[in-house]
Amino acid sequence: MSLPRNPLLSSTIYKLRQEFLELEKDSLKPKTWFKLTETMEKVVITGVIPTRGCSWALSETGGCSVCGYINDSSRDHKIPSEQIIEHIQQSLNQANPSKPIEFKLFNSGSFFDEDDIPQKLRSQIIDLLKKPNKIRLFSVESRPEYLLNHQDIINETNIRLKPITLEIGVGMESSNDAILRDCWNKGFLLDDYRESVQITRLNGIRIKTYVLIKPPFLTELEAICDSIRTSIDAIEIGTDIISFNPCTVQNGTLVNFLAKKNRFSPPWLWSVLHVIKTIRNQFPEQELICEPIAAGKQRGPHNCGKCDKNVLDLINRVINSKQIPNDLSNICPCYKRWQVLVTTPIEVFRTRNHSKLRFLNPLNE
Ligand code: SF4
Ligand SMILES: [Zn+2]
Repeated sequence: MSLPRNPLLSSTIYKLRQEFLELEKDSLKPKTWFKLTETMEKVVITGVIPTRGCSWALSETGGCSVCGYINDSSRDHKIPSEQIIEHIQQSLNQANPSKPIEFKLFNSGSFFDEDDIPQKLRSQIIDLLKKPNKIRLFSVESRPEYLLNHQDIINETNIRLKPITLEIGVGMESSNDAILRDCWNKGFLLDDYRESVQITRLNGIRIKTYVLIKPPFLTELEAICDSIRTSIDAIEIGTDIISFNPCTVQNGTLVNFLAKKNRFSPPWLWSVLHVIKTIRNQFPEQELICEPIAAGKQRGPHNCGKCDKNVLDLINRVINSKQIPNDLSNICPCYKRWQVLVTTPIEVFRTRNHSKLRFLNPLNE
């Protein structure tokens, strides 16, 4: 698998990230947290562990233009694996023993990247999860290259976990090769995503695909079109679930640099709603999730400030296949402003010369 790059974009991201990490080196601390959510049927444990961090972000490629998770990783420091295991054990101890558990573990990188999670630690985690005999789903994340190059490790993990279902989240973000290369700096192309997902699913592993809403350098309308197209492509390729991630502004990133110069703002919540509504209408049975970070804040997806909570509620309703009003313009006057923004001709004229950018008109449902 090649690692396609736009050299100028990549070197700029690298420079900005290095400057930030150097400037903040004394204040940045590796983060660990676990959150338990209990519903009628299950307990969901979501946790972040402070491993070395994403190899893509630590490399001279600079990593993805939007991602600041490396700020929370240990980078060069070594956190003893015993400490990580201890945190996981504590979270399991807190779960209601009478309910099945879904365990979502994030290492702010790839679970199958040996440089981030060594084989010994991965093995200890699997042993730990098998003990309570109550876990039904184990969810991790990985870049496509590890799915393509480490199928043996993935298969072994899957077999050892049985009967726990293994779910792997892949940050596809966009199915447009130009956007992947020139906006997100993902270092892979649509074909890499397709091949990695198809080979992994052959072994009964669930795939969760992340779709990032609103890349830098695109207009609001282009971003909406891209997310709709990406979701359709991911579904057609065979993803089990789509997780919509509206872009947030994180420290040390290119997106943060652009936001400070008023060259980027996170998506409107109306845009997020529109993308999800379009996909829900077209694929009524498709499993979807959307848990926006920093929603309603300047650094996250937001509307005018008055209607953000209501629109987040509408997003949740659509995700859960519930009805929402047809006419959204009554909800808040800012809906009209958003409509003007995404229909104004300049949005179309500003379209960059992406030969593969394919448009759907999001307002023609
Ligand atoms: S989005 Fe994923 S692949 Fe990209 S830098 Fe962040 S952790 Fe690494
Ligand atoms: Zn509003």
